[in-house]
Amino acid sequence: MNKLPQLPRAIMRKEDEPRDEKELWQPTWNCFCCHDFGIVQSHLAAMVIKEFNPNRDKLPRCQNRGCSAGERYDTNTLSGCIDYRFSPEICQKLDAAEREAWRETMRTQRQHLNAQINSLREQEQKLAQKMKMPGTCSRTAEDNREVAIRHSEILNADPNKLAAAAHKHLGDGYWEDSSS
Ligand SMILES: [Zn+2]
Repeated sequence: MNKLPQLPRAIMRKEDEPRDEKELWQPTWNCFCCHDFGIVQSHLAAMVIKEFNPNRDKLPRCQNRGCSAGERYDTNTLSGCIDYRFSPEICQKLDAAEREAWRETMRTQRQHLNAQINSLREQEQKLAQKMKMPGTCSRTAEDNREVAIRHSEILNADPNKLAAAAHKHLGDGYWEDSSS
């Protein structure tokens, strides 16, 4: 069998460098009206068409300015399924509404993440103080392992994992305090 040639990796993106706060996931699409899909997002369409049902109604084609994703539906076979009533002005307003909703989501996520990072730091400081007190045992391998796990949890920055970890380490009381 002929050996295949070997190529070096063509790296497009460097590995993420560990930082105190990893960037949260955020949308990368250009058009917030259709998420670059060409069809207006269902929850946005429902803001214009009362009781909009994406399974039964024609699909509103995005006509947002600068968005050409909808062009792929402008064929004879598909155009019968497409709703062309969403003007550029409507799409522009829906785009703005969706951007604001995303900003709010990101803000909330960041607040939660920061609160959790602060709590974990406090726990670490308490542990460090405890170790300094005379008569207490030194930091055990188990303590070190716990701290390492918390660090990796923060760096992975998965809000769900963080929430689970915070529940485990801080108990339910933390959530009652932080939600107010
Ligand atoms: Zn669009």
